[in-house]
Formats: sequence, C-alpha cells, structure tokens
Amino acid sequence: MGVDHAQVFHMNKGAGETSYAKNSSVQSKIISIAAPVTDEAIIQVLSTNLPESMGIADLGCSSGPNTLSVISEIIDVIYSKCCHLGRPPPELRISLNDLYSNDFNDIFGSLPAFYNRLKEEKGTGLGPCFISGVPGSFYGRLFPSKSLHFVHSSSSLHWLSQVPPGLDSKASIAINKGRIYMSKTSPQSVLDSYFLQFHKDFSQFLKSRSEEVVLGGRMVLSFMGRRSMDPTTEESCHHFELLAHALMSMVSEGLIPEEKVDTFNAPYYAPCAEEVKSEIQKDGSFIMDRLEAFEIDWDGGVDSCNSIETPSSGQRVAKTIRAVVESMMEAHFGSDIMDDLFLRYAKIVDNHLSKTRAKYINLVVSIIRVDKIEG
Ligand code: SAH
Repeated sequence: MGVDHAQVFHMNKGAGETSYAKNSSVQSKIISIAAPVTDEAIIQVLSTNLPESMGIADLGCSSGPNTLSVISEIIDVIYSKCCHLGRPPPELRISLNDLYSNDFNDIFGSLPAFYNRLKEEKGTGLGPCFISGVPGSFYGRLFPSKSLHFVHSSSSLHWLSQVPPGLDSKASIAINKGRIYMSKTSPQSVLDSYFLQFHKDFSQFLKSRSEEVVLGGRMVLSFMGRRSMDPTTEESCHHFELLAHALMSMVSEGLIPEEKVDTFNAPYYAPCAEEVKSEIQKDGSFIMDRLEAFEIDWDGGVDSCNSIETPSSGQRVAKTIRAVVESMMEAHFGSDIMDDLFLRYAKIVDNHLSKTRAKYINLVVSIIRVDKIEG
C-alpha cells in the first residue's frame, strides 16, 4: 500500500448496500458467541474492586449496529451486577476507539437515541454515562495511565498495523506473486515476515494497554485465528486465497496488470493460541484467565436458499468481505474494478461452498492486568 494504512483503512461507511452497517452480521454473531466471556470478565472486575468511576474501552469499534450493541451489553451487565450487589453503579467513562477515518459522526448521531433508551430502561438506577470517541491506532497509547478497568475488542486485532515490510507495494521484488496473504505456496520468507509483524504489533498492543489498564483490570479480545500451528492452514487463509483467484482471473483477462496483484498483500494475521499465549507471557503484565476457539461459518451460518430474491452464500460472503477490505483494495487497485471483483469472488466462493462448509476460527482471550512478572 502506497499510503499510510492507518489513514486509509476503514470499514465501508454509511448504510448503503455495500456498507459495513448492512454487512456485519458475521461480526455480530462473533460478539454474541464471546458475550459470556465478556460478561464474566466484567463481573470479576466489579467483584474484586467496584470503582467509583469505571473506564471502559472498545477498541476497533467501527460504526453500525455492532458498535453500540457491545456497549449496551456491557452496561446491562454492570447494571444488573450492581443491582445484585445492592451497590450504586459506578460512573461510566466509555471510550469508542477506531482508526482516524472511521465514521465517528455516524456513531455520535446515534447517541441521543441510545441515551434515551438507557434512561427509559434503567431510569435513575444507572449513574452518569459518558461516551466519547478516541481516534487512533490501538498499536500505540490511546488513553491516560491507569484509566481503564475493562477493555473489549472484537474482530479487530487480526488487522496488523501495516503490511509486513518487504511485502508492501514499495518492495523492490515481489515475493508473494499471485497471492495476497500467506498461502501454502508462499515462500518461507513471506510467512516469517507476517509472523514478525504480528509479534511486533501484538507486543506493542499489550505494552500500550499495560500502561492504561489498572491492576486487576481486564481485557476480552476476540479476533480471527487458527487452530493449527501452520499459518497457511485453510481455516485462516482461504478467504484471501479465493480473493486472489478472483484478482488473477481479472489479470488473465487484461483487466488488472499482474504486478498490481503481486505487490498487494493484506495487513492481516490470524494467530494460533500458542502464539497469543507466548506474547502475553513475554509481556508479563497480564495473566490469562480464559482462551477459547470457536468456529464460525463464512456466511455466519445463515441458511442458504438460492432463490432470485435471497443472495447466495457466496454473495453474502463477498458482501461481508467487501465491506471490510474495500477501502484498502481501492487504494491499491482503484475503485473501478471493485464491482466486477466482488461478483467474481461471490461465484468462486459459491463454487467452493458447494464442495465444503468453510469456517473461520475465532479466538477469544480474557486477560487480567497484574503486577509485572519479570523475566
Ligand atoms: N468491533 C466491530 C468492528 C470490527 S471491524 C465489530 O465487531 O463489528 C474492525 C475494526 O477495527 C475496523 O473498524 C477497523 O478500522 C478497526 N481497526 C483496525 N486496525 C485498527 C487499529 N490499529 N487501531 C484501531 N482500530 C483498528
């Protein structure tokens, strides 16, 4: 990518056909599946030390229905736990974080209705609740020291801070030709570059949060991962592999120059549990409470019904992926080819799904801020 990733990357804005708001049901399902882990972590924070003012952050909040549904869930758990304890709920400082070009205005526009609903549902039983937007990368500091009690992040940490060096569009030689992510046929140096970038980013993430989260504070992070130690396993790569096929079919018809595909790689990494655990141990500021892996169908598990009105599974997968990756693909390939690309992708995915039930693996990890374990 020629331009700074953190400045161009965003989910598709607005509420139209190709928007993230309309095409984020897979991510919504992931939030629901991880909800028991989130609820338990919040209850633990409140049980060990009920703060007067509680700092909460959602990292990679995006915009659309999922953004405030996560916050709603968090507030509900705090409210019911405090009722149960017979204690007044703490003042809530809720920060919504995402990159600079996220549609924060859309979120802010939906806050009046959100605050009204809170007032209707909880009346005066809920204390003051201040929601704010915090633009910036979660791979650096975002919040004041020791200001957070609970951090949540869903479907975001698999995005790297940048394309690994040597694999971006500025690289002098293309070493991952015809592919846009790690693949069974990628050279080892490609796998090494990806792992190194993940290691740098995730350790930087933990270091930044360790400054911001109070002792006893917790984080629940859920992101795409894999079960196998092999980073080229289908469950973590195949959606990008098929997108590369769609791009290459356009190359063969002369619609895209081949070197455009050769110089594009996704800033993405789906780690395995061992890699995540190892980074947490190396950092030493957090201990792990839970780590779970679950499967999620590429199309979110909605029953497919191939009539004219309802989109096929391939079309739904293509829309889900498009809403997420279009900004970065447009920056590299231009916007003209996007409709054609995702039509081809939908067909390729339909063909793949007619032979197999493709799934993503999502990892959910719940960790606690502790006194740093040296060494
Ligand atoms: N949490 C939401 C959105 C997930 S989409 C949900 O579950 O539906 C992933 C989001 O992560 C995007 O909005 C993207 O802009 C954001 N993101 C990616 N890298 C980021 C970074 N380094 N810092 C902050 N946000 C980031």
